[in-house]
Amino acid sequence: MSKVLIIGAGGVAGVVVKKCAALPEYFSEIHLASRTVSKCEALQKEVGKDRVKGVYAVDADDSQQVVELIRKVEPALVINVALPYQDLPIMDACLETGVHYLDTANYEPKDEAKFEYSWQWAYQDKFKEKGIMALLGAGFDPGVTNVFTAYAAKHYFDEIHYLDIVDCNGGDHGQAFATNFNPEINIREITQKGKFWENGDWHETDPISVRKDLDYPNVGVRASYLLFHEELESLVKHFPSIKRARFWMTFGDQYLTHLRVLENVGMTSIEPVEFQGNKIVPLEFLKAVLPNPGSLAEGYTGKTCIGTYVTGLKDGEEKTIFIYNNCDHAETNREVGAQAVSYTTGVPAMIGASLMLQGEWMKPGVWNMEQFDPDEFMARLNKYGLPWQVVECERPFEQQ
Ligand code: NDP
Repeated sequence: MSKVLIIGAGGVAGVVVKKCAALPEYFSEIHLASRTVSKCEALQKEVGKDRVKGVYAVDADDSQQVVELIRKVEPALVINVALPYQDLPIMDACLETGVHYLDTANYEPKDEAKFEYSWQWAYQDKFKEKGIMALLGAGFDPGVTNVFTAYAAKHYFDEIHYLDIVDCNGGDHGQAFATNFNPEINIREITQKGKFWENGDWHETDPISVRKDLDYPNVGVRASYLLFHEELESLVKHFPSIKRARFWMTFGDQYLTHLRVLENVGMTSIEPVEFQGNKIVPLEFLKAVLPNPGSLAEGYTGKTCIGTYVTGLKDGEEKTIFIYNNCDHAETNREVGAQAVSYTTGVPAMIGASLMLQGEWMKPGVWNMEQFDPDEFMARLNKYGLPWQVVECERPFEQQ
């Protein structure tokens, strides 16, 4: 049985639904649920009722609502592309009903801008005992970047030592300020302190304070800033030979200027404030006035380049490789009506789900992407829209 229940109907969900719908050999039936059912209905209309069989309203913060929905739909797998806040209630519902689980971002409590795997890794024994599987972080970063690392370790090195994951959006959406995925989650992520792993410990940096300029294939030189990103946590755990792991993301000056102003006036705060007799969270209000990331696709030009630099030893010699993908905003818009950031997240989620349902990536418990054999996943990236390259190169940033 390969019936899936997709929860969430935003930018990423649109890509997951369309990609799954195009592959009936992997996904026999698709059901779609979200907080705002009209968004599910719109997607169903676009894709067709023959593939999206049912649409439902659900508040996935409430585990019991998800339990009832799962009992009604009886899927083999729940694909969670709602928000990180819903990870635990949806995992609880999967446990109660004995259904497999997949997501693209790790759990984050709503009242604290802090994401880490501890909460979800704590489900390991319960999922094992129930005989069900959870695949965590099956987007691009985390997700594909973890698989790139596993692929490098398997095919190119005896031991891996240094990781630099780089995420460049070289695209232009023509807006003064917009985020490419959920604005609330995105701004919480980048306004946190930076953090990297070196010699067995985490080291913190002030938010967006460490900058290097890096030349991205098919994009060019872009200012790249050190951030903490969730795949660093699982990769240093699963590859203990790693001496240093860092994550870099590109931001333009215009984006950073807007962000600084918004921060300075308090608009990125998650502390509720009193406004005309109501409590409102400034960042949630900001999300409401910013462009919806799903709406950026039309007219978006340029490419993303996301990849993993891996340095390690092969036959006693040190070498570095870069594994990366370029994704073109206009092409993804033509294919599925989405910009490349939604696309690069949605396609890996579909591939991870297909591998779970086919039994290729299936073992009870809670797992990160790098814990499975990377080869078939890498093959499917090439087949389903995210072709990748491997080049031998110098260690990044070291010469600057
Ligand atoms: P959007 O904001 O576009 O969509 C989120 C969807 O979740 C909306 O349809 C929203 O409903 C729904 N939702 C929110 N709260 C609930 C709830 N309580 N119950 C049910 N549905 C709910 O976000 P994106 O599509 O941009 O991002 C989706 C996920 O993908 C996020 O978790 C994000 O962190 C992750 N992501 C991962 C990346 C990766 O590479 N790993 C990259 C980019 C994103 P409503 O319409 O009512 O608000």
